[in-house]
Amino acid sequence: MFERIKITQINPHVYLMDDAGESTGYLVVGEKKAAVIDTMNGWEDVQAAARTITDLPLVVINTHGHCDHIFGNVYFDEAYVHPDDLPLAHEHSQFPEFLAECEKHNLKMPPFKPFDVNKEIDLGGLTLKGIHLPGHTPGGLLLLLKEDRILFTGDAINRHLWLQLDGCLPAGKAADALEKIMYLTDEADFILHGHAKGTDPISLMNDLLRGLREIEAGQTENDLPYQWFGGEARQHPFAKDSVICYPKA
Ligand SMILES: [Zn+2]
Ligand SMILES: [Zn+2]
Repeated sequence: MFERIKITQINPHVYLMDDAGESTGYLVVGEKKAAVIDTMNGWEDVQAAARTITDLPLVVINTHGHCDHIFGNVYFDEAYVHPDDLPLAHEHSQFPEFLAECEKHNLKMPPFKPFDVNKEIDLGGLTLKGIHLPGHTPGGLLLLLKEDRILFTGDAINRHLWLQLDGCLPAGKAADALEKIMYLTDEADFILHGHAKGTDPISLMNDLLRGLREIEAGQTENDLPYQWFGGEARQHPFAKDSVICYPKA
């Protein structure tokens, strides 16, 4: 039925949606409601994919405003985003190729609703708590699934962190922001990020923090160039198969 979206069950409540290996969304199914965390590139009907798993009302939450996570919002009536990423989400929603595809398929971006990190989302027997983590984007939103001790991190915490984009925080500031939320290592056991094949241990937060501090301290003599579509950046290894990409000086 779906050529791009492949769904894998992670635990009794959590499903990983892989969009052709390009980005990852999640479905968290409570007793009363289900949450869609990130909607990926939008080439296929994400709501229909979720409906193969659950008939419950759906709440859509974006971890951040980048196109490869929000374009699938077009299959829903509304979607939450952290207030500090609203400008970015609006900017990406205006990409001409995206607007052309929307017009072709008679789809449009629904309104973004600001996510209130002071409120918890009760799915019925499962609770999602939002945590703000700027760095990759200004309004990065982590979601803690309290009962299952899983932290959804989008692109804010992963094994290939992009800090080379315009609007990303420099490594030292990103480390300061991360340091403030290190209490989460006591509240979660696993991370599910926005380009994942499965879970990562929560200790990835400690590894990432150490890597960011190394960049801040200039311990970058062995770092390599990193080519990306915007040009050349640098990459700093921080754990097995893990790098932080950052602008070259
Ligand atoms: Zn991404
Ligand atoms: Zn991103």
